[in-house]
Amino acid sequence: MVRVRLAPSPTGTLHIGTARTAVFNWLYAKHEQGAFVLRIEDTDKERSKPEYTQNILEGLQWLGIDWDEEPVIQSERVGQHRDAIQTLLDRGLAYRCYASETELTAMRDAQKAANQAPRYDNRHRSLTPEQEQAFQAEGREAVIRFRIDDAAEIRWNDLVRGAMSWRGSDLGGDMVIARRAPADQIGDPLYNLVVVVDDAAMDITHVIRGEDHIANTAKQLLLYEALGLPLPTFAHAPLILNAEGRKLSKRDGVTSINDFRAMGYTPDAIANYMTLLGWSVPEGMEERFSLREAAAVFGFDRVNKAGARFDWDKLNWLNAQVLHGWTADHLLEELTPLWTERGWTAPSDKSWCLDLCALLGPSLTLLKDGVDQAEPFFDRPELQDDALEQLAIDGAKAAIADLLQRLENNPWDGSDVDQAKAWLGDAAKAAGVKKGVVMKSMRAALLGRLQGPDLITTWSLLARIGEDLPRLRRCLG
Ligand code: GLU
Repeated sequence: MVRVRLAPSPTGTLHIGTARTAVFNWLYAKHEQGAFVLRIEDTDKERSKPEYTQNILEGLQWLGIDWDEEPVIQSERVGQHRDAIQTLLDRGLAYRCYASETELTAMRDAQKAANQAPRYDNRHRSLTPEQEQAFQAEGREAVIRFRIDDAAEIRWNDLVRGAMSWRGSDLGGDMVIARRAPADQIGDPLYNLVVVVDDAAMDITHVIRGEDHIANTAKQLLLYEALGLPLPTFAHAPLILNAEGRKLSKRDGVTSINDFRAMGYTPDAIANYMTLLGWSVPEGMEERFSLREAAAVFGFDRVNKAGARFDWDKLNWLNAQVLHGWTADHLLEELTPLWTERGWTAPSDKSWCLDLCALLGPSLTLLKDGVDQAEPFFDRPELQDDALEQLAIDGAKAAIADLLQRLENNPWDGSDVDQAKAWLGDAAKAAGVKKGVVMKSMRAALLGRLQGPDLITTWSLLARIGEDLPRLRRCLG
Protein backbone atom coordinates (compact mmCIF):
# COMPACT_ATOMS: atom_id res chain seq x y z
CA MET A 1 0.00 0.00 0.00
CA VAL A 2 1.18 3.48 -0.88
CA ARG A 3 2.04 5.62 2.16
CA VAL A 4 3.13 9.20 1.67
CA ARG A 5 3.83 11.96 4.13
CA LEU A 6 4.10 15.68 4.52
CA ALA A 7 6.85 16.66 6.94
CA PRO A 8 6.42 20.35 7.71
CA SER A 9 8.73 22.18 10.08
CA PRO A 10 6.64 24.36 12.40
CA THR A 11 9.03 27.29 12.10
CA GLY A 12 6.56 29.52 10.26
CA THR A 13 3.03 29.62 8.92
CA LEU A 14 1.92 27.22 6.16
CA HIS A 15 4.16 28.12 3.23
CA ILE A 16 2.90 27.96 -0.32
CA GLY A 17 5.66 25.47 -1.26
CA THR A 18 4.65 23.21 1.62
CA ALA A 19 1.00 23.52 0.63
CA ARG A 20 1.82 22.51 -2.95
CA THR A 21 3.85 19.54 -1.65
CA ALA A 22 0.88 18.63 0.55
CA VAL A 23 -1.46 18.74 -2.43
CA PHE A 24 0.76 16.49 -4.57
CA ASN A 25 1.13 13.99 -1.72
CA TRP A 26 -2.59 13.99 -1.03
CA LEU A 27 -3.48 13.59 -4.72
CA TYR A 28 -1.09 10.70 -5.10
CA ALA A 29 -2.36 8.99 -1.95
CA LYS A 30 -5.97 9.33 -3.07
CA HIS A 31 -5.16 8.19 -6.58
CA GLU A 32 -3.46 5.08 -5.22
CA GLN A 33 -5.97 4.56 -2.41
CA GLY A 34 -3.07 4.86 -0.04
CA ALA A 35 -2.47 6.77 3.16
CA PHE A 36 -1.38 10.38 3.59
CA VAL A 37 0.22 11.07 6.95
CA LEU A 38 1.83 14.03 8.68
CA ARG A 39 5.04 14.35 10.59
CA ILE A 40 5.72 17.56 12.44
CA GLU A 41 9.45 18.18 12.20
CA ASP A 42 9.89 20.17 15.38
CA THR A 43 13.46 19.27 16.24
CA ASP A 44 14.70 22.85 15.80
CA LYS A 45 13.69 23.80 19.32
CA GLU A 46 14.47 27.48 19.02
CA ARG A 47 12.46 28.14 15.87
CA SER A 48 9.59 25.65 16.26
CA LYS A 49 6.40 26.98 17.85
CA PRO A 50 3.12 25.22 18.69
CA GLU A 51 1.16 28.07 17.08
CA TYR A 52 2.87 27.34 13.77
CA THR A 53 1.90 23.68 14.02
CA GLN A 54 -1.65 24.86 14.65
CA ASN A 55 -1.51 27.20 11.68
CA ILE A 56 -0.17 24.47 9.38
CA LEU A 57 -2.85 21.96 10.40
CA GLU A 58 -5.61 24.55 10.07
CA GLY A 59 -4.28 25.70 6.72
CA LEU A 60 -4.31 22.15 5.37
CA GLN A 61 -7.85 21.63 6.62
CA TRP A 62 -8.89 24.92 5.06
CA LEU A 63 -7.50 23.71 1.73
CA GLY A 64 -9.52 20.52 2.01
CA ILE A 65 -6.52 18.31 2.66
CA ASP A 66 -7.24 15.71 5.30
CA TRP A 67 -4.78 13.21 6.70
CA ASP A 68 -4.94 9.67 7.93
CA GLU A 69 -3.66 8.80 11.40
CA GLU A 70 -2.46 11.03 14.22
CA PRO A 71 0.43 13.26 13.15
CA VAL A 72 3.84 11.97 14.24
CA ILE A 73 5.76 14.44 16.37
CA GLN A 74 9.39 14.16 15.42
CA SER A 75 10.82 15.44 18.71
CA GLU A 76 9.17 12.53 20.52
CA ARG A 77 11.26 10.09 18.51
CA VAL A 78 14.68 11.40 19.47
CA GLY A 79 15.53 8.10 21.21
CA GLN A 80 15.20 6.23 17.92
CA HIS A 81 17.26 8.87 16.15
CA ARG A 82 20.05 8.51 18.69
CA ASP A 83 19.90 4.71 18.41
CA ALA A 84 20.41 4.98 14.65
CA ILE A 85 23.41 7.26 15.18
CA GLN A 86 24.84 4.82 17.69
CA THR A 87 24.42 2.04 15.13
CA LEU A 88 26.38 4.08 12.58
CA LEU A 89 29.11 4.78 15.16
CA ASP A 90 29.27 1.08 16.07
CA ARG A 91 29.60 0.13 12.42
CA GLY A 92 32.41 2.63 11.87
CA LEU A 93 30.22 4.53 9.40
CA ALA A 94 30.08 7.63 11.57
CA TYR A 95 32.66 9.28 13.80
CA ARG A 96 33.21 12.23 16.11
CA CYS A 97 34.73 15.32 14.63
CA TYR A 98 36.35 17.76 17.07
CA ALA A 99 37.14 20.53 14.62
CA SER A 100 36.19 23.84 16.20
CA GLU A 101 34.08 26.46 14.45
CA THR A 102 37.18 28.63 14.12
CA GLU A 103 39.09 25.82 12.44
CA LEU A 104 36.20 25.08 10.09
CA THR A 105 35.91 28.74 9.13
CA ALA A 106 39.63 28.90 8.45
CA MET A 107 39.32 25.76 6.32
CA ARG A 108 36.49 27.31 4.27
CA ASP A 109 38.36 30.60 3.87
CA ALA A 110 41.36 28.75 2.53
CA GLN A 111 39.14 26.85 0.08
CA LYS A 112 37.60 30.09 -1.06
CA ALA A 113 41.00 31.71 -1.54
CA ALA A 114 42.05 28.73 -3.67
CA ASN A 115 38.83 29.00 -5.69
CA GLN A 116 37.59 25.64 -4.46
CA ALA A 117 34.02 24.71 -3.59
CA PRO A 118 33.52 24.76 0.20
CA ARG A 119 33.50 21.30 1.72
CA TYR A 120 34.52 19.60 4.92
CA ASP A 121 37.91 18.04 4.27
CA ASN A 122 37.21 14.94 6.36
CA ARG A 123 40.13 15.84 8.61
CA HIS A 124 38.91 13.88 11.64
CA ARG A 125 37.72 10.80 9.76
CA SER A 126 40.51 8.56 10.98
CA LEU A 127 41.59 9.88 14.33
CA THR A 128 43.48 7.46 16.57
CA PRO A 129 42.09 6.89 20.08
CA GLU A 130 45.05 8.93 21.37
CA GLN A 131 44.20 11.88 19.15
CA GLU A 132 40.59 11.72 20.29
CA GLN A 133 41.64 11.69 23.92
CA ALA A 134 43.91 14.66 23.33
CA PHE A 135 41.03 16.68 21.88
CA GLN A 136 38.79 15.66 24.76
CA ALA A 137 41.46 16.63 27.23
CA GLU A 138 41.42 20.09 25.64
CA GLY A 139 37.75 20.19 26.58
CA ARG A 140 36.58 20.05 22.97
CA GLU A 141 33.09 18.89 22.16
CA ALA A 142 32.35 16.96 18.99
CA VAL A 143 29.77 16.74 16.24
CA ILE A 144 29.06 13.35 14.73
CA ARG A 145 29.72 12.96 11.03
CA PHE A 146 28.57 10.30 8.62
CA ARG A 147 31.22 9.11 6.16
CA ILE A 148 30.55 9.95 2.55
CA ASP A 149 33.05 8.36 0.23
CA ASP A 150 33.95 10.65 -2.63
CA ALA A 151 33.81 7.70 -5.00
CA ALA A 152 30.29 6.66 -3.96
CA GLU A 153 27.82 6.57 -6.84
CA ILE A 154 24.26 7.38 -5.93
CA ARG A 155 21.51 6.61 -8.37
CA TRP A 156 17.77 6.67 -8.17
CA ASN A 157 14.89 6.75 -10.54
CA ASP A 158 12.96 9.89 -9.73
CA LEU A 159 9.28 9.75 -10.61
CA VAL A 160 9.45 13.30 -11.97
CA ARG A 161 13.03 13.73 -13.10
CA GLY A 162 13.86 10.22 -14.30
CA ALA A 163 17.34 8.70 -13.84
CA MET A 164 19.32 10.69 -11.27
CA SER A 165 22.97 10.23 -10.58
CA TRP A 166 25.16 11.87 -7.96
CA ARG A 167 28.67 11.21 -6.75
CA GLY A 168 29.77 11.21 -3.14
CA SER A 169 32.21 13.99 -4.03
CA ASP A 170 29.26 16.27 -4.87
CA LEU A 171 28.00 16.23 -1.29
CA GLY A 172 30.46 18.48 0.53
CA GLY A 173 32.39 15.92 2.56
CA ASP A 174 31.36 13.88 5.58
CA MET A 175 27.96 15.05 6.78
CA VAL A 176 27.10 16.21 10.29
CA ILE A 177 24.28 14.06 11.67
CA ALA A 178 24.37 15.21 15.32
CA ARG A 179 25.09 18.60 16.77
CA ARG A 180 28.07 19.37 18.92
CA ALA A 181 28.01 17.73 22.36
CA PRO A 182 30.46 16.33 24.95
CA ALA A 183 32.24 13.32 23.51
CA ASP A 184 30.46 10.79 25.72
CA GLN A 185 27.09 11.93 24.42
CA ILE A 186 25.17 12.10 21.16
CA GLY A 187 24.10 15.66 20.42
CA ASP A 188 20.82 16.67 18.81
CA PRO A 189 20.26 14.53 15.70
CA LEU A 190 20.00 16.51 12.46
CA TYR A 191 17.60 16.65 9.53
CA ASN A 192 18.91 14.11 7.01
CA LEU A 193 19.40 11.42 9.62
CA VAL A 194 16.07 11.89 11.38
CA VAL A 195 14.10 12.02 8.14
CA VAL A 196 15.51 8.67 7.05
CA VAL A 197 14.88 7.03 10.42
CA ASP A 198 11.34 8.40 10.59
CA ASP A 199 10.35 7.71 6.99
CA ALA A 200 11.48 4.13 7.42
CA ALA A 201 9.69 3.77 10.78
CA MET A 202 6.52 5.20 9.28
CA ASP A 203 6.71 2.78 6.32
CA ILE A 204 6.71 5.62 3.84
CA THR A 205 6.74 4.19 0.32
CA HIS A 206 7.01 7.44 -1.66
CA VAL A 207 8.83 10.59 -0.64
CA ILE A 208 7.28 13.46 -2.56
CA ARG A 209 8.79 16.89 -1.92
CA GLY A 210 10.24 19.97 -3.59
CA GLU A 211 13.23 20.00 -5.89
CA ASP A 212 15.22 21.96 -3.30
CA HIS A 213 15.61 18.64 -1.47
CA ILE A 214 17.40 16.77 -4.29
CA ALA A 215 20.85 17.00 -2.69
CA ASN A 216 19.30 15.80 0.57
CA THR A 217 17.88 12.80 -1.25
CA ALA A 218 21.36 11.85 -2.42
CA LYS A 219 22.63 12.04 1.17
CA GLN A 220 19.62 10.23 2.54
CA LEU A 221 20.05 7.34 0.12
CA LEU A 222 23.52 6.75 1.58
CA LEU A 223 22.00 6.71 5.07
CA TYR A 224 19.32 4.19 4.05
CA GLU A 225 22.05 1.95 2.75
CA ALA A 226 24.24 2.37 5.83
CA LEU A 227 21.32 1.61 8.17
CA GLY A 228 20.10 -1.29 6.04
CA LEU A 229 16.65 0.26 5.60
CA PRO A 230 14.31 -0.37 2.65
CA LEU A 231 14.32 2.47 0.11
CA PRO A 232 11.25 4.53 -0.72
CA THR A 233 10.64 5.91 -4.20
CA PHE A 234 11.35 9.61 -4.67
CA ALA A 235 9.53 12.32 -6.59
CA HIS A 236 10.77 15.91 -6.67
CA ALA A 237 8.26 18.55 -7.62
CA PRO A 238 9.52 21.62 -9.51
CA LEU A 239 10.25 24.88 -7.72
CA ILE A 240 7.65 27.61 -7.61
CA LEU A 241 8.96 30.65 -9.46
CA ASN A 242 7.78 34.24 -9.54
CA ALA A 243 6.70 35.99 -12.75
CA GLU A 244 10.36 36.85 -13.50
CA GLY A 245 11.34 33.21 -13.27
CA ARG A 246 13.14 33.44 -9.92
CA LYS A 247 12.36 31.34 -6.88
CA LEU A 248 9.24 32.75 -5.22
CA SER A 249 10.29 34.56 -2.07
CA LYS A 250 9.01 36.86 0.63
CA ARG A 251 9.77 39.78 -1.67
CA ASP A 252 6.95 38.63 -3.94
CA GLY A 253 4.50 39.65 -1.25
CA VAL A 254 2.88 36.31 -0.58
CA THR A 255 4.51 33.21 0.75
CA SER A 256 2.03 31.94 3.26
CA ILE A 257 -1.38 30.42 2.70
CA ASN A 258 -2.59 32.96 5.28
CA ASP A 259 -1.71 35.76 2.88
CA PHE A 260 -3.91 34.28 0.14
CA ARG A 261 -6.67 33.71 2.61
CA ALA A 262 -6.48 37.30 3.81
CA MET A 263 -6.59 38.51 0.22
CA GLY A 264 -9.93 36.80 -0.30
CA TYR A 265 -8.96 33.70 -2.25
CA THR A 266 -11.12 30.65 -1.72
CA PRO A 267 -9.64 27.35 -0.60
CA ASP A 268 -10.99 25.63 -3.72
CA ALA A 269 -9.21 28.05 -6.03
CA ILE A 270 -5.98 27.87 -4.06
CA ALA A 271 -6.01 24.06 -3.94
CA ASN A 272 -6.84 23.98 -7.65
CA TYR A 273 -4.05 26.45 -8.42
CA MET A 274 -1.49 24.63 -6.24
CA THR A 275 -2.16 21.52 -8.30
CA LEU A 276 -1.51 23.42 -11.50
CA LEU A 277 1.80 24.67 -10.11
CA GLY A 278 3.75 21.85 -11.68
CA TRP A 279 1.07 19.46 -12.89
CA SER A 280 -0.61 19.69 -16.31
CA VAL A 281 -4.13 18.47 -16.82
CA PRO A 282 -4.64 15.57 -19.21
CA GLU A 283 -6.05 16.48 -22.59
CA GLY A 284 -9.75 17.23 -22.48
CA MET A 285 -9.77 18.11 -18.78
CA GLU A 286 -10.69 21.65 -17.69
CA GLU A 287 -8.17 23.57 -15.61
CA ARG A 288 -10.88 24.30 -13.06
CA PHE A 289 -11.33 21.15 -11.00
CA SER A 290 -11.79 19.90 -7.47
CA LEU A 291 -9.03 18.02 -5.68
CA ARG A 292 -11.13 14.84 -5.93
CA GLU A 293 -11.41 15.23 -9.70
CA ALA A 294 -7.66 15.79 -9.97
CA ALA A 295 -6.93 12.79 -7.75
CA ALA A 296 -8.80 10.52 -10.14
CA VAL A 297 -6.26 11.24 -12.90
CA PHE A 298 -3.18 12.39 -10.97
CA GLY A 299 0.20 10.88 -11.75
CA PHE A 300 3.83 11.98 -11.87
CA ASP A 301 3.99 11.52 -15.63
CA ARG A 302 2.25 14.89 -15.91
CA VAL A 303 4.37 16.68 -13.32
CA ASN A 304 6.80 19.01 -15.09
CA LYS A 305 10.52 19.20 -14.47
CA ALA A 306 10.72 22.90 -15.26
CA GLY A 307 9.99 25.42 -12.51
CA ALA A 308 6.36 26.46 -12.20
CA ARG A 309 5.81 30.19 -12.70
CA PHE A 310 3.33 31.81 -10.44
CA ASP A 311 0.57 33.29 -12.58
CA TRP A 312 -1.73 35.70 -10.77
CA ASP A 313 -4.08 35.97 -13.74
CA LYS A 314 -4.74 32.27 -13.69
CA LEU A 315 -5.25 32.21 -9.94
CA ASN A 316 -7.66 35.14 -10.21
CA TRP A 317 -9.50 33.44 -13.03
CA LEU A 318 -9.84 30.26 -10.98
CA ASN A 319 -11.03 32.19 -7.95
CA ALA A 320 -13.62 33.98 -10.05
CA GLN A 321 -14.79 30.63 -11.44
CA VAL A 322 -15.19 29.29 -7.93
CA LEU A 323 -17.09 32.36 -6.70
CA HIS A 324 -19.31 32.45 -9.77
CA GLY A 325 -20.24 28.86 -9.07
CA TRP A 326 -21.46 29.62 -5.55
CA THR A 327 -25.15 29.94 -4.81
CA ALA A 328 -26.41 33.23 -3.37
CA ASP A 329 -26.95 31.36 -0.09
CA HIS A 330 -23.34 30.24 0.08
CA LEU A 331 -22.05 33.68 -0.86
CA LEU A 332 -24.23 35.26 1.81
CA GLU A 333 -22.87 32.87 4.40
CA GLU A 334 -19.28 33.79 3.47
CA LEU A 335 -19.89 37.52 3.17
CA THR A 336 -22.00 38.07 6.28
CA PRO A 337 -19.03 37.90 8.69
CA LEU A 338 -17.03 40.27 6.48
CA TRP A 339 -19.94 42.71 6.35
CA THR A 340 -20.38 42.47 10.10
CA GLU A 341 -16.67 43.20 10.55
CA ARG A 342 -17.27 46.47 8.71
CA GLY A 343 -20.07 47.27 11.11
CA TRP A 344 -22.83 46.89 8.56
CA THR A 345 -26.14 45.42 9.61
CA ALA A 346 -28.02 43.74 6.83
CA PRO A 347 -31.78 44.34 6.66
CA SER A 348 -33.73 41.67 8.48
CA ASP A 349 -35.26 40.75 5.13
CA LYS A 350 -33.05 37.82 4.14
CA SER A 351 -34.31 37.83 0.57
CA TRP A 352 -32.85 41.34 0.16
CA CYS A 353 -29.43 40.00 1.18
CA LEU A 354 -29.77 37.04 -1.14
CA ASP A 355 -30.73 39.29 -4.03
CA LEU A 356 -27.72 41.50 -3.30
CA CYS A 357 -25.49 38.41 -3.38
CA ALA A 358 -27.07 37.25 -6.63
CA LEU A 359 -26.39 40.71 -8.08
CA LEU A 360 -22.75 40.93 -6.98
CA GLY A 361 -21.75 37.27 -7.37
CA PRO A 362 -21.05 37.21 -11.12
CA SER A 363 -18.63 40.14 -10.96
CA LEU A 364 -16.49 38.95 -8.06
CA THR A 365 -12.88 37.91 -8.47
CA LEU A 366 -11.99 37.93 -4.79
CA LEU A 367 -14.33 37.46 -1.88
CA LYS A 368 -13.41 40.90 -0.59
CA ASP A 369 -14.82 42.39 -3.82
CA GLY A 370 -18.11 41.38 -2.26
CA VAL A 371 -17.34 43.81 0.56
CA ASP A 372 -16.17 46.70 -1.63
CA GLN A 373 -19.08 46.29 -4.01
CA ALA A 374 -21.65 45.91 -1.25
CA GLU A 375 -20.52 49.07 0.52
CA PRO A 376 -22.87 51.52 -1.30
CA PHE A 377 -25.79 49.25 -0.43
CA PHE A 378 -25.08 49.59 3.28
CA ASP A 379 -23.61 53.07 3.53
CA ARG A 380 -24.81 56.05 1.58
CA PRO A 381 -21.72 56.82 -0.54
CA GLU A 382 -20.12 60.20 -1.21
CA LEU A 383 -20.49 61.36 -4.79
CA GLN A 384 -17.20 60.69 -6.57
CA ASP A 385 -15.76 62.98 -9.23
CA ASP A 386 -17.00 60.85 -12.12
CA ALA A 387 -20.52 60.91 -10.65
CA LEU A 388 -20.42 64.69 -10.17
CA GLU A 389 -19.28 65.15 -13.77
CA GLN A 390 -22.07 62.93 -15.02
CA LEU A 391 -24.68 64.83 -13.04
CA ALA A 392 -23.34 68.12 -14.45
CA ILE A 393 -24.22 67.05 -18.01
CA ASP A 394 -27.01 69.07 -19.63
CA GLY A 395 -30.35 67.55 -18.81
CA ALA A 396 -29.00 65.04 -16.27
CA LYS A 397 -30.41 66.72 -13.21
CA ALA A 398 -33.65 67.55 -15.01
CA ALA A 399 -34.11 63.86 -15.74
CA ILE A 400 -33.40 62.92 -12.12
CA ALA A 401 -35.85 65.61 -10.95
CA ASP A 402 -38.49 64.21 -13.29
CA LEU A 403 -37.92 60.67 -11.98
CA LEU A 404 -38.01 61.90 -8.42
CA GLN A 405 -41.36 63.49 -8.97
CA ARG A 406 -42.78 60.31 -10.47
CA LEU A 407 -41.48 58.34 -7.51
CA GLU A 408 -42.81 60.79 -4.97
CA ASN A 409 -46.25 60.45 -6.48
CA ASN A 410 -45.89 56.76 -6.95
CA PRO A 411 -43.32 55.22 -4.58
CA TRP A 412 -41.66 52.14 -6.09
CA ASP A 413 -41.43 49.01 -3.94
CA GLY A 414 -38.71 47.62 -6.20
CA SER A 415 -40.74 44.80 -7.69
CA ASP A 416 -42.19 45.97 -11.02
CA VAL A 417 -39.04 46.17 -13.11
CA ASP A 418 -40.87 47.01 -16.36
CA GLN A 419 -42.45 50.01 -14.66
CA ALA A 420 -39.03 51.25 -13.57
CA LYS A 421 -37.66 50.85 -17.10
CA ALA A 422 -40.62 52.77 -18.49
CA TRP A 423 -40.00 55.62 -16.01
CA LEU A 424 -36.40 55.88 -17.19
CA GLY A 425 -37.66 56.28 -20.77
CA ASP A 426 -40.27 58.84 -19.72
CA ALA A 427 -37.73 60.87 -17.75
CA ALA A 428 -35.37 60.89 -20.77
CA LYS A 429 -38.12 62.29 -22.97
CA ALA A 430 -39.16 64.87 -20.41
CA ALA A 431 -35.58 66.11 -20.00
CA GLY A 432 -34.78 65.86 -23.71
CA VAL A 433 -31.81 63.51 -23.26
CA LYS A 434 -31.00 59.99 -24.39
CA LYS A 435 -32.08 57.14 -22.14
CA GLY A 436 -28.39 56.25 -21.67
CA VAL A 437 -27.81 59.64 -20.03
CA VAL A 438 -30.61 58.99 -17.55
CA MET A 439 -29.30 55.55 -16.76
CA LYS A 440 -25.74 56.78 -16.14
CA SER A 441 -27.04 59.67 -14.05
CA MET A 442 -29.19 57.33 -11.98
CA ARG A 443 -26.18 55.14 -11.32
CA ALA A 444 -24.19 58.22 -10.31
CA ALA A 445 -26.96 59.36 -7.97
CA LEU A 446 -27.61 55.93 -6.43
CA LEU A 447 -24.07 54.56 -6.13
CA GLY A 448 -22.04 57.76 -6.09
CA ARG A 449 -19.89 56.41 -8.93
CA LEU A 450 -20.30 55.25 -12.51
CA GLN A 451 -19.07 51.69 -12.09
CA GLY A 452 -21.44 49.18 -10.63
CA PRO A 453 -23.69 46.23 -11.23
CA ASP A 454 -26.97 46.14 -13.17
CA LEU A 455 -28.80 49.44 -12.68
CA ILE A 456 -32.37 48.27 -12.36
CA THR A 457 -31.50 45.60 -9.80
CA THR A 458 -29.35 48.10 -7.90
CA TRP A 459 -32.22 50.57 -7.88
CA SER A 460 -34.68 47.91 -6.87
CA LEU A 461 -32.54 46.85 -3.88
CA LEU A 462 -32.17 50.46 -2.75
CA ALA A 463 -35.91 51.10 -3.25
CA ARG A 464 -36.69 48.13 -1.02
CA ILE A 465 -34.82 49.73 1.88
CA GLY A 466 -36.11 53.23 1.15
CA GLU A 467 -32.71 54.46 0.01
CA ASP A 468 -33.52 55.51 -3.56
CA LEU A 469 -35.44 58.73 -2.88
CA PRO A 470 -32.97 60.24 -0.39
CA ARG A 471 -30.11 59.61 -2.80
CA LEU A 472 -31.95 61.18 -5.73
CA ARG A 473 -32.91 64.17 -3.60
CA ARG A 474 -29.36 64.60 -2.41
CA CYS A 475 -27.89 65.04 -5.85
CA LEU A 476 -30.39 67.76 -6.67
CA GLY A 477 -29.77 69.66 -3.42
N1 GLU B 1 10.93 19.49 7.30
C1 GLU B 1 11.36 19.48 5.95
C2 GLU B 1 10.85 20.72 5.25
O1 GLU B 1 9.87 21.30 5.71
C3 GLU B 1 10.86 18.22 5.28
C4 GLU B 1 11.44 17.92 3.99
C5 GLU B 1 11.10 16.51 3.58
O2 GLU B 1 9.99 16.36 3.05
O3 GLU B 1 11.88 15.61 3.82
O4 GLU B 1 11.40 21.15 4.28
